[in-house]
Order: sequence, then C-alpha cells, then structure tokens
Amino acid sequence: MTAPLDLLVLGNAIVDLIARTDEAFLAAQGVPKGSMALIDEPRAEALFAAMGPTTVVSGGSGANTAVGAAKLGAKTAFIGKVRDDELGGLYAHELKAVGVDFPVKAAVDGPATARCFILVAPDGERTMNTYLGACQGLSPADVDPAVVQSARVTYLEGYLWDPPAAKEAFRKAVQIAHGAGNAVALTLSDAFCVGRYRDEFLGLLRDGSIDILFANIGELQSLYETEDADAAIKALAQERNGRGIHLLGLVTRSEEGAVVVKGGEIRSVPASPVAEVVDTTGAGDLFAAGFLAGHARGLDNVASAKLGALAAGQVIQHIGARPQVDLVKLARERGLL
Ligand code: ADP
Repeated sequence: MTAPLDLLVLGNAIVDLIARTDEAFLAAQGVPKGSMALIDEPRAEALFAAMGPTTVVSGGSGANTAVGAAKLGAKTAFIGKVRDDELGGLYAHELKAVGVDFPVKAAVDGPATARCFILVAPDGERTMNTYLGACQGLSPADVDPAVVQSARVTYLEGYLWDPPAAKEAFRKAVQIAHGAGNAVALTLSDAFCVGRYRDEFLGLLRDGSIDILFANIGELQSLYETEDADAAIKALAQERNGRGIHLLGLVTRSEEGAVVVKGGEIRSVPASPVAEVVDTTGAGDLFAAGFLAGHARGLDNVASAKLGALAAGQVIQHIGARPQVDLVKLARERGLL
C-alpha cells in the first residue's frame, strides 16, 4: 500500500531562471509587467541571451507549493514531467532533497525540460515567460491511481490547462481523488490563464470537480470579468457545486493579505509583516503551501491562512520561490503552530 500523503501536487515542472530587470527592458521585450506568457524555444533562447545574470531554481508554481508544504511538515508528493536532460536531473534531485516525493519517470525523448524566465522589476513584481518543453508530455499515464488515492488533498495548477495531455491527467486525478473520498484543490495560476480558460474553470467549480479554490484577486476578477474586487469575492462566496455545496475559497490580495470564503462567509487575514519586498515570485504559491500544511495539521481555515501569510511573507523577502528559513520554527515563534 502507498504511504498516506497529506498533499499531492500536479503541476508543470519548470526550472526558473531569475534575473533582475527594469521597466525599459520589459517594454523593449514587449512583455506586460506582472504577466505569464508562453514562448517557444527560439524566443526562449533570444530572451535568455538578452537578460542579465540569472539565479537558477527548480520551480513551477505547484512545485513551489509542494516544497513549501513539505518544509512545514506535510507529507507531500509532486507529479510533473521533465526530460532526462541535465536540468531535468537537477530538478528531480532538488525536489527529493527537500523531502518531496517525485514519482514520475523523466521523458527519454521530445522537448527539453521546461524553463521559466522570471524578470524581477525594481519594485519586486515578477514577469514570466515560460517555455513549456517537456511539461507538455505530462499525461494520464503519469498519474498513478494509488498515489492519488493515498493523498488527503490533490492540488492542481490551472496552468495544466495549457498542455492538452496535462489537462487529461488533471481530469483523471480529480476522478480518482473524489472516488477515494479525498479533496481536490485548484489554483487559478494567472489572470491571463483564466482569460484563456474562463468557462472551463467556472465549469470545474460548478460541476463539483473542485472543493478548494486558490486565487489572487486579479485572477478572481478575471474569472468573474469584473473590475470590482469585492464583487468578485462576493461572487465566489455564492458559488456552489452541482451538489449544492459551497466551495472553500482562498483569495490573496498581496499586501492587503487574504480572505477566506466559505458558505457565504468572508473572513480577512492580514499579510505578515515584511521588512522589504525583494521578489514576489512564489507569494501565492507559498500562501497555498502554508494553508495546506495548516489544513493537514488540523488547523481551522483562518489559522491555516495565517500560516499561508507567514510562508508567503518570508519568500518575498529574497530572490526565488524557495523558503530560506525554518518555517516551522518561525511559525512556532509567532504562535501559529
Ligand atoms: P500571487 O503571487 O499569486 O500574485 P499575491 O500577490 O496575492 O499572490 O500574494 C499572496 C500572499 O503573499 C498575500 O496574501 C500575502 O500574504 C503575501 N504578500 C504578497 N505581497 C505582499 C506584500 N507586499 N507584503 C506583505 N505580504 C505580501
């Protein structure tokens, strides 16, 4: 029997190449600040050649969440696809080294391991250009039913809607998780991603595929096509699945913290104090990590969201989306654990 997991994450396995930048570079490259755009291999090479010195970190939104949750003591596994190239080998090593199980075989042919070029502006806001490469090979065959059945929560990236076979892997995981009586969480990933798949994402919320939704406010406003943040949150609070059950929603609002939405009730949780915002890459990912780790420890939703805010607040104070402090120790010092 597969050992029980607190959390299984399905996501795009992407190596992050992070560089500091400025508005002029973003404008010259024609990339809207704060967005995530998909690029092909020639564009990836051109952008890499043009950008400054880089920090290399195994990333991908979901993997960031998996690592953060593992660092907070959750037993975690990650399903994503890399190629059997150098970056793919490094990727698998890093996840395993931090205690995240990575039960997927690397592709032996096809495109190279995925890369995300992250351009960090002077105010800490990040703009991402992603070459999906090997991620596009993630398929239902990579989703081991025993692993999904063993996980109390299966967490899925909205970004999985981009590669067609990954979408099928997503649907398979939802079916198996619910068949085993486990919960399914979705992160909306990016406002532009929501723009691409709005109706399908709303369909997933309403057909009962999703039990827990994570979104930042921009993504939620994109989902409900409104400029009004409060209206978007109220719309989420009204959302029920086909069985009449309210979703649990976690909506992040950068320095304004987060809101927990459940059964028509909306509760605010403040952001954790931050000395200096250096790089906001991974803020939402680490919020989800903290929340899900708190949930796995049996904390209530507000206490879990506070743990999320703590993890997010830490990761934005340095370059890259990996926590650099002992989060359990810090959470204990703050009375959150
Ligand atoms: P995303 O990374 O998905 O865009 P947000 O920007 O909403 O997510 O940030 C997620 C969480 O990170 C927030 O709820 C908050 O806890 C924390 N956070 C983000 N920006 C700041 C900030 N400037 N100061 C303090 N906390 C922040």
